Amino acid sequence: MTWTVHKFGGTSLADAACFRRVADIVVSQPEGNLAVVVSAIGGVTDLLLGLIDQASNDQPVAASIEELRSRYQGMVAELISENRANELLRQFTDELEDIDSVLKALSVVKAASDGSRDLVAGFGELWSARLLAALLEEGGQRSGAVACVDARDILVVESGEMGPTVVWEPTRKQCKRVIPDDYQGVVVVTGFIARNREGLQTTLGRNGSDYSASIFGSLLGAGVVHIWTDVEGVMTGDPSRVPEATVIDEISYNEAMELAYFGTKVIHPQTMAPALAHGISIRIRGTFSPERPGTQITATPERQDALVKGISGIDGIALVNLEGAGMIGVPGTADRLFGALREAAISVTLISQGSSEHSICFAVPEESAEQVKAVVERAFAVELAQGQVQNIEVTTGCGVLAVVGDGMAGLPGVAGRFFRTLGSAGVNVRAIAQGASERNISAVIASKDMTRALRAVHGSFYLSAKTVSIGLVGPGSVGSALLEQLAGEAERLRQNFNLDLRVRAVGSSSRMLLADRRIDLGRWRDDLKSGEDIDLERFVDHVQADHLPHTVLIDCTAEDSIANRYGQWLERGIHVITPNKRAHSGAMDYYADLKRISHRANTHFLYEATVGAGLPVIQTVKDLVETGDEITRISGILSGTLAYLFNVFDATQPFSEIVREARARGYTEPDPRDDLSGMDVARKAVILAREAGLTMGLADLEVESLVPAALVDVSIDEFLERLVDFDAPMAERYQQAQKDDRVLRYVADVDLAHGTANVRLASYPLDHPFANINLTDNIVQFETRRYCENPLIIRGPGAGPEVTAAGVFADLLRLCSMLSANNS
Ligand code: ADP
Ligand code: ASP
Ligand code: MG
Repeated sequence: MTWTVHKFGGTSLADAACFRRVADIVVSQPEGNLAVVVSAIGGVTDLLLGLIDQASNDQPVAASIEELRSRYQGMVAELISENRANELLRQFTDELEDIDSVLKALSVVKAASDGSRDLVAGFGELWSARLLAALLEEGGQRSGAVACVDARDILVVESGEMGPTVVWEPTRKQCKRVIPDDYQGVVVVTGFIARNREGLQTTLGRNGSDYSASIFGSLLGAGVVHIWTDVEGVMTGDPSRVPEATVIDEISYNEAMELAYFGTKVIHPQTMAPALAHGISIRIRGTFSPERPGTQITATPERQDALVKGISGIDGIALVNLEGAGMIGVPGTADRLFGALREAAISVTLISQGSSEHSICFAVPEESAEQVKAVVERAFAVELAQGQVQNIEVTTGCGVLAVVGDGMAGLPGVAGRFFRTLGSAGVNVRAIAQGASERNISAVIASKDMTRALRAVHGSFYLSAKTVSIGLVGPGSVGSALLEQLAGEAERLRQNFNLDLRVRAVGSSSRMLLADRRIDLGRWRDDLKSGEDIDLERFVDHVQADHLPHTVLIDCTAEDSIANRYGQWLERGIHVITPNKRAHSGAMDYYADLKRISHRANTHFLYEATVGAGLPVIQTVKDLVETGDEITRISGILSGTLAYLFNVFDATQPFSEIVREARARGYTEPDPRDDLSGMDVARKAVILAREAGLTMGLADLEVESLVPAALVDVSIDEFLERLVDFDAPMAERYQQAQKDDRVLRYVADVDLAHGTANVRLASYPLDHPFANINLTDNIVQFETRRYCENPLIIRGPGAGPEVTAAGVFADLLRLCSMLSANNS
């Protein structure tokens, strides 16, 4: 008969519903003998160990005992019929009494020996094994017998370097006796517990039931050991710390061992040894999703495509540094050091020694830090006294972060990327080590940085380099058009270009909507209405998530108060994209600061849509400058509204009437003076001038306002009414131009040769490009050293939410291509 082992952890055995689920999984297994290894009911081992601590500190234990009793009784009553239940509970109550007597004794001696700790901690597995066996027996759905096996009757272990190891000979003998060769059916086996050579109860250490499972796999000659838990398999990082972690399909024994050793709790590090020795494959699977394949652990996984298989971190580490000139070139120093530590039974997690041999640095569990210091001081007492060893420094509050993967061997660049990522996440590395197998690179860092470091490193190895966390402020007409465009294109961009654009926050002037993964762009309006009050600090903190490689904030407001924050954002590593003209046309110092900061912080600041909406105007200026051309003049029609007004105005209709009509059609701002004042055009002219290299502000510009001085301060209605009074001079200007075969156009003109700029209503001959534009078109003309005979002209729709949003979108894509270029 063939055997298969299934191990269920405490997280899969938390309550009665969990036990039913586990029983269903067992029953649905294909024919063949099953060894079902169980942990204690979730949390029970912790409770039992807590009892020991309470008793040995003379604290009351009654409440915890009561909690144990009511939990177990409740589950038994819910799962098992009365007769069997009574039998189970009688045994349970007797054992609780035994525990109580042990605890009483401990509270007298006020100290717990390892023996009493092991004895009490092990009851959890006995209770859960009996309960599951009873449940399976009552179900009666599988052929063959159901037996409950106490692993203490089989397993003999002794303590080794890495913890307990099996003494195989007596163990195999006892296994044959307890589970005869001709056995047919299911055995439910207690995990975690065993005996030592002296016959005293012991355990395999915390999480040791995984190890029990592979030991039984070896004893019974099983081909596969299934380890069922509350996650779907071994993941690329601890899912409780790394939200983006995904399940790894296949992993080697060595990789799994290394990950487990460095804190990946889902599997105990020793589990792999018996499996490796007998070629048993291990599968880690999710009890809550039994249909999923989980993770396969074998000697040689078929697919080895990922460079780094997983990332893990352990906290509670102390770093010890032994330093002294007297150690240089002295053979045997390391030997003495680690010999002394071995004698004191202290396990060393990581060792790092510089080639100068001037110092040796190693990591140990924090709780042994004091002891380690004493041991090392003793071992080097002479050298310390003679000053050959100057210093033994112990730093607590550390953790070890490790990246693990067979595929890393022989491939340059992994360490580079690892440390670059830690550096840019602001994580200080105190010590590093790389195993000679090159399967693991580890770094000692401060515990407080661990989660951030795990997320950043995970992001840099697993997420597409083009995964961008996006926050949008100002979902007005342009902002909402952009969200719509993003919603429409996201899937195509993901598929075709591996671009993962995640809008994770949208904020208006009063509300904000935050999402962990991404906002549902199909319903953001409704969700935002019921969102929380806006808190810009929290908004920004949320968007800049540690686990995503890049952050961009898109400002679609026209607010100074937002533009004033760009500096801080760029400084802290956030890219900024905006159609808001405020920052670029405000104080020259701020503009220059932003350029400086973004350069220093290696962040990008993109604002194509500030001029000409989606037309590539800013990019063209940049290209001209960067390729070494010399721009002598930039001129153009930069306002869609003013373009329209003067395209339509032909004096057959008064100018005031055209303004009123345009307003009614939504071509102007609600207050048309915002357009007619020329300030919007002036801001754009300043942006172009600065982009081309001039130091210039709004105050340096001559601006011809088309708002009559008398109407500057009146209400909108009064303005519209009284504009009639000024129709005559406007008509006159038109007629004068017409007489000369010219037309009127409102134009910005930046003269780079003389460093001047103005914005005004001017006339142009009928064949001039400015005279021939469609309704609301923008047009920009560049005269440069290279484009001198014929200017370079960019022309097209330069206003409206759709095209402006498209300009912002283009910036976002430009940003992505810069980011992936930086990362490759
Ligand atoms: P069980 O009770 O089944 O033995 P454990 O709590 O011992 O379960 O182990 C499962 C837990 O391990 C998961 O819930 C998860 O939080 C944690 N874990 C840590 N690192 C990883 C990882 N890389 N992959 C999967 N789980 C991990
Ligand atoms: N119940 C034990 C523990 O909590 C063993 C295990 O679950 O693997 O450590
Ligand atoms: Mg476990």
